[in-house]
Amino acid sequence: MPDPSILNKQHSLANHFALWVTLLTVLIIAGLGAYFDGFLRSSFLENTRTRMAYGYERLSFNFQQVESSLREGVLFLQDDDAALASIRLINRYEDREEYNTFLLDEEKKTLARELLSRVKLSFNDDIALYGKQMDLIAYVARDSRGYYLNIVSYSSGKPQLLRRYEDELHFTPVSFDRAEEDGILYRHIDYYTQEQLNQGSIVSRHLDDRGLILKSHLRIRKQGESIAHIEMSRVMGREYFLGLSGNMNLNIELARQPFAPVTQISDLNHLQEGKRYFRVFETDERYLSSMYMETLDGRAFFNVSMAREFLNHALSQNRLHLVILLCVTALLAMLLIRYLTVKRLSVPLKALMNQLRKIQRQDYSVTRVLVSNDELQAVSESINRLAGTVADRERSLQGSKKELEYLSDHDVLTGLPNRRFWLRYLAEHLQQAGQRGQKAAVFFIDLDQFKQVNDTLGHDVGDRLLQSVAGRLQQSLAGNETLARIGGDEFNLLIENLRDSGQARETAQRLIELFHEPFQVGDQGISISASIGITLFPQDGCDSISLSKYADLAMYKAKDDGRNNYSFFTRELSARMQDRADLIHALRYALQDKQQFELYYQPKVSAFSHTIVAIEALIRWNHPVLGMVSPARFIPLAEELGLIIPLGAWVLEQGCRDFIRLQQLGYPLDHISINVSSIQLDSDSFAATVDQVLKDTGIDTNALELEITESYIAKKPEAARRRLEYFRNRGLRLAIDDFGTGYSAMNTLQNLPVTRLKIDKSFVDGLPHDSNSVALARTVVSLAKNFNLALTAEGVENKSQLAFLAAEACEEIQGYYFSKPLPFNELVNFCESNQKKTMLTSATDT
Ligand code: C2E
Ligand code: MG
Ligand code: MG
Repeated sequence: MPDPSILNKQHSLANHFALWVTLLTVLIIAGLGAYFDGFLRSSFLENTRTRMAYGYERLSFNFQQVESSLREGVLFLQDDDAALASIRLINRYEDREEYNTFLLDEEKKTLARELLSRVKLSFNDDIALYGKQMDLIAYVARDSRGYYLNIVSYSSGKPQLLRRYEDELHFTPVSFDRAEEDGILYRHIDYYTQEQLNQGSIVSRHLDDRGLILKSHLRIRKQGESIAHIEMSRVMGREYFLGLSGNMNLNIELARQPFAPVTQISDLNHLQEGKRYFRVFETDERYLSSMYMETLDGRAFFNVSMAREFLNHALSQNRLHLVILLCVTALLAMLLIRYLTVKRLSVPLKALMNQLRKIQRQDYSVTRVLVSNDELQAVSESINRLAGTVADRERSLQGSKKELEYLSDHDVLTGLPNRRFWLRYLAEHLQQAGQRGQKAAVFFIDLDQFKQVNDTLGHDVGDRLLQSVAGRLQQSLAGNETLARIGGDEFNLLIENLRDSGQARETAQRLIELFHEPFQVGDQGISISASIGITLFPQDGCDSISLSKYADLAMYKAKDDGRNNYSFFTRELSARMQDRADLIHALRYALQDKQQFELYYQPKVSAFSHTIVAIEALIRWNHPVLGMVSPARFIPLAEELGLIIPLGAWVLEQGCRDFIRLQQLGYPLDHISINVSSIQLDSDSFAATVDQVLKDTGIDTNALELEITESYIAKKPEAARRRLEYFRNRGLRLAIDDFGTGYSAMNTLQNLPVTRLKIDKSFVDGLPHDSNSVALARTVVSLAKNFNLALTAEGVENKSQLAFLAAEACEEIQGYYFSKPLPFNELVNFCESNQKKTMLTSATDT
């Protein structure tokens, strides 16, 4: 099952991408839209400008056309002889008072017809002919019905107007005002200078309600005399501009004012000089521009406008298209990106995740590499390599784990299960046995005096002996027996599903017998025995710790009973163990302030003069409940627990102090003997402790004698020698205590830096009658003499012993015969009385 949170992340990744890209697309398109809007606007403006410019050009061109048609339209009169003849006739014979209607009106009608044909021919609007006096003769104009001909007739000197439409036969009189309505004046006005007129026809511009009027003028001169004046006009009114607007698709209007917002207006006549004169203005609805033309009635403005509707429409169309484009593109971009991210990212990522999850499941088989031809493929390959590496590591880890497990549960030397395994296994088994109601036995097997093998034959031999013993034990095991090595020469055995104590006894017997044959180590056979302690489950105890302890205790019992032996755990043993525990507790407590300890001193007396020469410090423990505890009981315990080190240091210091005090009291003895345990000697701190005491108390190094047991020397003679040499070199005296009991080779004495031997009490006891004791005593005395060592006899209790020793020249005596060990005060008394006694003896001697 893929992790849903990862899938969500993949989806959100795709969504994120899609969203961002869509947003980007929308922004780009919106930007393009704005740009396009602006572009459209400016291109429309430009386009409008061009169209307006074109409109103005057309206007200007039309004006030129009209002006030239007007100019040319009046030229005919110069060469029209018939018309000129008629004009001359009228000029000459027209008498307005005596008006000859018949003659003159006919002439005028003929002229009017001529004018009609001319004005029609040139598509202009009106034409007027003035006589020599510059009075109107005839004119043609038009209205919605068509052209109409007008002549000026007179009646009683007053002008009157006769008119007919082109399609009528007869002239009818109309009011003379009508001429003015047509824009025709009765009297001609000169809009131009004489000079201009001399150049031929000219055109003038006018502005009135009808619109812009272009008017051409020509003065006819014959023989230097002006005989007539002709004018032709074109009215450019609303229709004209409407027509033009229609054609141009613009709205062109003639006005007296420009469009309100249009501020910069230029002359239409200058249009050709550059379009810069003309500007287009924009309002919300329209484009506007204006140009003007000067007329005799002021400026005529041509206001051109164009609706922006088209542009607005185009713009909104554009925007609509843009929005549609935007939506479509955004949608497509979104779909595309989603598709791409899902295909190119989410799916490969999922595949990578599956690869990783495989590793997580500890499946290190090679996965098909993701083929994406990009970095993800490289990642996929790396994951495969990673799986390989992890698999290798795991394999080697498993290997070393197994090795470690084996090592942690087995003893390297013998290959047997070790203590760790044993305790675990025993605990598990006891639990099961308890549930099943089965019995079991735990054996504690300890080799007898194995240390001696080690000390005498070396550790190498010791190790091989252990291997050999383990092998023999292992071979003898029954199916329900488990053996473990739990310490140096200690083995434990479990008998599961035990029948009864008889079976345990049989097994113990069998094991003891296994040791009857010597063990072969190299080419030498070594004989060694074992002591076995046995405890039974559930009878003696229910937990593995207690049972192991009890078996151990029982083993000690077997050893006490003479070794090479087995012993069952009993309640008395347990009580002894409890005592031991209590003692340990009490000892630890007493050591905190050492108040319960006291030093007793046993005097050492000269065998000859009987004067006190030295003292031996002997510790006493006065426990408030237990009473006086013997050093023989607590010193071994203190050694076992390492407590002898602080205790011994206290003894050393206290002894030296008391010795100095004794000196100060006037009893300058030769030396003080202090018992030193082998544990103290072996400890690294002892040398420093001795130095410190020497320094603190100021005792003379020669006055301090350390008593070392013979067994210490026997165990490691070489190491002991080096150690003792150090103290001897410092100037201290060294005595071998209990000499004769420790099995030390006599010849080692030669190399030892000791200064005294102390004959053990056990030999003194038999003196002077027991031949063995006598022989040994004599040997020791001669040894001391040979090696030049001082000699002390311990445990001298009677006169005969003293006499024998004195005879054998043993110079120093220690024993109850002279004194038991004494507290300091009593020692002082002893010294005093001894001193007196000696003085007395010497006085009587002399
Ligand atoms: P040890 O050093 O051989 O001391 C002599 C022991 O013999 C003393 O026993 C002393 O009271 C006893 N003794 C001396 N003369 C006679 C005698 O005439 N008859 C009998 N029956 N006994 C005699 P203690 O004081 O009980 O000491 C026992 C052992 O405890 C000492 O044997 C010594 O090995 C050890 N010990 C005593 N004090 C210390 C100490 O401060 N340090 C160490 N490491 N061991 C000590
Ligand atoms: Mg001693
Ligand atoms: Mg002794």
